[in-house]
Amino acid sequence: MGIDSTIVGQVGRQLGAGSVEVFVERLIGPGTAPAAVLTTANQAPIGMQELPRIEEMYGVDDLRNGDIVAIHSDGVVNTVFREGSANNSLFVTEQCNSHCIMCSQPPRRVSDIEYLLSVNTRAVRLMPKSLATLGITGGEPTLLGSHLAGLLRLIRVELPSTNIEILSNGRRFSDDSFTAEVAEASAELLLFSVPLYSDYAPRHDYVVQSQGAFAETIRGLYSLAMHGIRRELRVVVHQATYRRLHSLAKFVQRNLPFVEHVAFMGLEVTGFARANEAKVWVEPQEYAKPLSDAIDHLTAFGIPVSIYNVPLCLLPAELWPYARISISDWKREFLESCSKCSVRESCGGVFGTSSRQSSFIQPIL
Ligand code: SF4
Repeated sequence: MGIDSTIVGQVGRQLGAGSVEVFVERLIGPGTAPAAVLTTANQAPIGMQELPRIEEMYGVDDLRNGDIVAIHSDGVVNTVFREGSANNSLFVTEQCNSHCIMCSQPPRRVSDIEYLLSVNTRAVRLMPKSLATLGITGGEPTLLGSHLAGLLRLIRVELPSTNIEILSNGRRFSDDSFTAEVAEASAELLLFSVPLYSDYAPRHDYVVQSQGAFAETIRGLYSLAMHGIRRELRVVVHQATYRRLHSLAKFVQRNLPFVEHVAFMGLEVTGFARANEAKVWVEPQEYAKPLSDAIDHLTAFGIPVSIYNVPLCLLPAELWPYARISISDWKREFLESCSKCSVRESCGGVFGTSSRQSSFIQPIL
């Protein structure tokens, strides 16, 4: 393989079926030398056998020019950026300070921040300047500490007009000096999506499995607002949250009217959600009424609302205007029966990653 340390590069010239060159520079001219080659064959093409290379690699044909890959010294290749996708995110850590009962990507106690930062820093420099939106996700991105502001500063320099959307539990922003540091790095074009699961503190703390989390998140939301950083709320709707959706909506309207959007989200049954299925699974029909009440309340006070990750056939028709196509393109699927459905084009489909789908999915004819 010849890979001594991680190579982060952009997929460039195709070398016929099953082989691609990877470049570590943004501009690929005729004289640019490749940094590595990836191939499905058992040997790299002639003349490239001295290059760092991964042979007999599965999935090379799925790579497109402009994709950015990280080639690790153990031979693992990750796609860090997919050209043409609207769902590109930097994955910055597997660690988290919460432990949500329905987390789809369970956190791990690993020391990964510096390593992923080095990969992401090189990837950002290769991304197209025209990129509309870049996510930052984990784990919990604020566990990067000061590195988060550093990463934001780099993105602002390399991708000055790109919107940055960060999924964060918001707890770290209860420290106002941390919020100030992030705001100084990039208050512009920055949005934090912060989960809030209940108006009742012990219920929120139960869902995130961390005492005091509710108070920290609320303080964090106020701090983000004070520093002029855009913020929205995300509410995953499941068995432990759906009964109080209307109360939560009233709480948001009275205490957090400065959030710019509230997204109610269907469950992805994987990770902890799969392990805790008996505690979290609920059929969308069961929460249709509290969801509808919550949406009526928020919209009556001018707070924009969306529903993510719930297919149209599981929602009452009056909620369809709020339903978005929100599942990331690489996870979004349709069932066989969806081919007959009259609203398939406007439906967001289901998580292909979920171990359980609603038994009430049926085509709308
Ligand atoms: S049947 Fe399929 S396409 Fe139609 S609304 Fe349900 S999930 Fe969407």
